[in-house]
Amino acid sequence: MLPQLFISELEQIVGAAHVTGDETALLAYGQDGLKKPHPPDVVVLPGTTGEVAAVAELCHSGRVPLYVRGGGTGYSGGAVPLRGGVLLSMERFNRILEIDERNLLVVTEPNVVTGRLQEAVEAVGLFYPPDPASLDESVIGGNIAENAGGPRAFKYGTTRRYVLGLEVVLPNGEVIRTGSKAVKNVVGYDLTRLLVGSEGTLGIITQAVLRLIPKPPAHATLRATFGSVDAAVEAVNELIRARVVPATLELVDGECLAAVTRYLGGAELAPQGTAGLLILEVDGMAQAVVEEAQLVEAACRTAGATEVLRAATEDERRELWRVRRELSPALKTIATMKVNQDVVVPRGRVPELFRLVGELKREFGVAIPCFGHAGDGNIHVNIMVDAADADAVRRAHAAQRRLFEGVVGLEGSISGEHGIGYTKAPFLSLELSREAIALMKRVKRAFDPHDILNPGKIFQD
Ligand SMILES: Cc1cc2nc3c(=O)[nH]c(=O)nc-3n(C[C@H](O)[C@H](O)[C@H](O)COP(=O)(O)OP(=O)(O)OC[C@H]3O[C@@H](n4cnc5c(N)ncnc54)[C@H](O)[C@@H]3O)c2cc1C
Repeated sequence: MLPQLFISELEQIVGAAHVTGDETALLAYGQDGLKKPHPPDVVVLPGTTGEVAAVAELCHSGRVPLYVRGGGTGYSGGAVPLRGGVLLSMERFNRILEIDERNLLVVTEPNVVTGRLQEAVEAVGLFYPPDPASLDESVIGGNIAENAGGPRAFKYGTTRRYVLGLEVVLPNGEVIRTGSKAVKNVVGYDLTRLLVGSEGTLGIITQAVLRLIPKPPAHATLRATFGSVDAAVEAVNELIRARVVPATLELVDGECLAAVTRYLGGAELAPQGTAGLLILEVDGMAQAVVEEAQLVEAACRTAGATEVLRAATEDERRELWRVRRELSPALKTIATMKVNQDVVVPRGRVPELFRLVGELKREFGVAIPCFGHAGDGNIHVNIMVDAADADAVRRAHAAQRRLFEGVVGLEGSISGEHGIGYTKAPFLSLELSREAIALMKRVKRAFDPHDILNPGKIFQD
């Protein structure tokens, strides 16, 4: 419980209409994509950088935990107020400030929904490539804090590549600007890159300068099916040999395909025996797209594709994406609990990752449908069990630990997209050395000496 005097001070800063302690609101703001609520004591909706700074300063001097929330779609509990305190919802920071066509950049407030920002820049022929599947709900600030990626990351990179500069409120209320509007900047330490992916633990982003590129004028969509995941990965290798980098390269395994087939009432979605399915998109100038699509088809056939389809219309394109689109609801029908991990391995080791998953399925007796971004080796491994079955839940967690140990052994990482938050904090030392963690903690202390901003995240107490 926060003292009434503290609440009154918050009201003075942002206005009483922008402070709420309503039970329903606390519950709603106290959770993210994991749907495990930890209500804060109070929710505050600042409207200006000055207000954010004043709230931070107040929390800093009162040693009150302060959590920042964007779209609330995080999958690692990053925005969840584990220790109560103040939940700062950035929803009033929802304006695109400037689309600078001459300098190929956009200046934006952090709570612009990613998909809306994409639409706005595409309307003037420009392109913001990062495309997390949550783009209709997640916001730019949350994407920056998590360094979000998506299907297009193989060709275009993740959010980090597009952040040129930031305005940030530090946990003690100081306001800094990092980077600039220029594409080259080597002055001092690169604080922009440090803040990208810092999971709301170092500062509160109040403005961002994002780099844009020209919108590719043409694209082509293909879907190829294979008798094994290994063959699908071999098709990716063939593509690299042919020097083609598709904009999108999504892999769906046989267990996912079976789940979608059942979910859609047995509809025949792919040839019998399909154990690996690739959805590939190439984009660029029209003639280059025609040539690259031919190379993609040839690479898939060389790798043993059982079928290669190419969309001729937007309707056909939507149809080729159908399996991937229906995956999320289909997986929910397998079991009530999904331990959803976003591990990543070097692309060439994806077949070994799938062999590891096969071993885990046998050893722990759990279903593990997998899909993901074949181009960058980022695979969503979904351990599915019945939430009411305590033994199955225990086995799922044991399988998860073995998965993490395995991906580190494969020179990969325990998270390619969703971040550490609090859910993966216990596993940090599987991947990072004691010395590296100690250095990161010193960085955290330099920004936030009293550990008020997003405490309990990334590092275990
Ligand atoms: C259906 C679904 C699909 C998804 N697909 C993808 C995917 O393809 N790729 C991917 O990368 N992720 C994906 N995610 C995870 C999630 O959408 C991303 O991590 C996203 O970047 C979170 O953005 P958000 O705005 O919802 O942030 P929140 O969940 O609100 O917050 C996430 C973190 O960012 C911090 N934060 C938010 N705003 C600020 C700010 N202004 N300043 C400082 N810190 C801030 C929070 O404190 C927290 O630590 C998916 C999630 C769902 C539910």
